[in-house]
Amino acid sequence: MNDVIAENLRRVQGRIAAAAIAAGRKPEDVTLVAVSKTKPVEAVAAALAAGQMVFGENRVQEAESKFPALRKQYDLSLHIIGGLQTNKARDAVRIADVIESLDRPKLADAIEAAMAKEGRTPKLLIEVNTGSEPQKAGIGRDEADDFIIACKARFGSALIGLMCVPPHDEDPRPHFTWLADRAARHGLQTVSMGMSADFEIAIACGATWVRVGSAIFGSR
Ligand SMILES: *Cc1c(COP(=O)(O)O)cnc(C)c1O
Repeated sequence: MNDVIAENLRRVQGRIAAAAIAAGRKPEDVTLVAVSKTKPVEAVAAALAAGQMVFGENRVQEAESKFPALRKQYDLSLHIIGGLQTNKARDAVRIADVIESLDRPKLADAIEAAMAKEGRTPKLLIEVNTGSEPQKAGIGRDEADDFIIACKARFGSALIGLMCVPPHDEDPRPHFTWLADRAARHGLQTVSMGMSADFEIAIACGATWVRVGSAIFGSR
């Protein structure tokens, strides 16, 4: 398993670099977030041993069960990328370096309160539901500007960017382009978009972070 994960990481990093260069960008301007949800801690350890230090998990509880022990050994970065319930905000603030799924005022309240209690300030991304899918997390496109402005006022430099997961049955390009443009308009540097199936397209559209799971760890 370790060899397969290390080889997959090399391959994905190579594809990221090629996509960045093809887009006239620098490979080091795109960060790979390795999405380890549902995969055992051994898989994460294999990726760490291969030099991958940035990870994404959907569920706070699962992240809590896998990452605190590994932190003692590695200078890793943990991103929470899944829809977050307000009652999980405090746990997320305690364990995460980045929360990529800030998507509503009530959650902003809960995160702000948790930051005060924990004395910890993870970086924040606002997730936008660019395809207006009812079952999906993310603030609506129409509400995004106001929410971004409110979160900038509230969180200051902790708010660093935007994230999206486009509808999987559509061309992701218009979604990616919209998100990158919105981030630029608000002076936000980080654009988290693109998964195993479409990260090269996302890089062409301006992604600075790509969140890749199955291409590294195998299908779920
Ligand atoms: C699972 C997941 C990913 C990674 O998806 P893959 O298709 O396995 O690369 C990226 N982002 C989010 C929000 C996810 O839930």
